[in-house]
Amino acid sequence: MAASNADSAASTTLQQVSQPKAYLPRYIDIGINLADPIFRGRYHGSQRHPDDLKAVVQRAKEVGCSRLIVTGSSFRSSRDALKLAGEFPDVVYTTAGIHPCSSSIFCASYKRHQEEDHSDDEHTPACDPDPSKPIPDEQEIDTAKSETIIKDLESLIAEARSSTSSTSPALVAFGEFGLDYDRLHYCSRTVQLHSFAAQLKLAASLTPQLPLFLHSRAAHADFVRLLREHFGPCLERLERGGVVHSFTGTVDEMRELTDGLGLYIGVNGCSFKTAQNCAVVREIPLDRIMLETDGPWCEVRPSHEGWKYLVELKPSADANGSAGPTNGQPPAEGGAQPKGRKQGKKNQKKEPEVPERFKVVKKEKWEEGAMVKGRNEPCTIERVARIVAGIKGVSIEDVCEAAWQNTVKVFGLGE
Ligand SMILES: [Zn+2]
Repeated sequence: MAASNADSAASTTLQQVSQPKAYLPRYIDIGINLADPIFRGRYHGSQRHPDDLKAVVQRAKEVGCSRLIVTGSSFRSSRDALKLAGEFPDVVYTTAGIHPCSSSIFCASYKRHQEEDHSDDEHTPACDPDPSKPIPDEQEIDTAKSETIIKDLESLIAEARSSTSSTSPALVAFGEFGLDYDRLHYCSRTVQLHSFAAQLKLAASLTPQLPLFLHSRAAHADFVRLLREHFGPCLERLERGGVVHSFTGTVDEMRELTDGLGLYIGVNGCSFKTAQNCAVVREIPLDRIMLETDGPWCEVRPSHEGWKYLVELKPSADANGSAGPTNGQPPAEGGAQPKGRKQGKKNQKKEPEVPERFKVVKKEKWEEGAMVKGRNEPCTIERVARIVAGIKGVSIEDVCEAAWQNTVKVFGLGE
């Protein structure tokens, strides 16, 4: 059971903290691409180090991240996610859908979509925009193929709904789907709009419906318009609600999604890139927030505006380290194995400004128990929570508990 896993991770931390009533954070990573071959040690089709998926899940548990909602963003990744739910019962839950960047399967020029499930080098779509690539817009929708895809997706969802992650259904949401105008080089606007609308129609027809796991980038007006077309002006026909994950929009857009449409907002490293991003996060109501890592993508980087909340919350070099400098919180990371930090040297790039809970190595120097540099994974969700707490000026506990409650409510997960 998940509870016993969480308990054992929790008791270890409790001993280390030695505070009688220290809060033990609990997390659900609502967006983790754990079906990506990178978590099996495969990068662009070549095996670069041993499969360390179990260690990734174990590290997540060690920080209190006891549940993982694994993103399905294509037929292939949705099926692989479902297999993971069997491998990690009561930990892994899944979604199933077709990401806007995987929506070329609706095009006449694309090979049969079930064979999109080509080789092992298919990585999940990153949420980071990549404007450097050209934008072809030559794609045409194949109507007959589109009908087959939607039928196949419907069958996949029906099959997934009858699978269980031990005691409850493995499939907890429809998605990931939506619009991404930052990355039209994977799929044109026309095809994305078609893919989104066709999947919304299917989502609305399901009995009972599933919550929606949505992606929206630089496409807010079209995104909201299509949602309203299928579920009503206030999404009153959307029975189970939904979350717009990896949010990077404006405050007004966020308010329209939360206050206007009753949706939830998922935040990860991409939501902290700029001061404007962080100003938006500050305004997300706690009763609308969910936390995610979107690993292997979207890690929090030192160049991100949000990074400073990790640095500032760390005990200073000359402090005794018995308590965190703000909110009375103990340091989230570094408790087990704080890294040394050179004192008095400015911006020594080699020294981490933020202590690392787990050792991080390059994939070429992979070693058992270490994280891989540049491969984000669910144990970093504590950084996401810490930054949200810092930005909003509230405690980690407030953030974690709000996100936990929102998540179990929407996705129908037990306490
Ligand atoms: Zn996404």
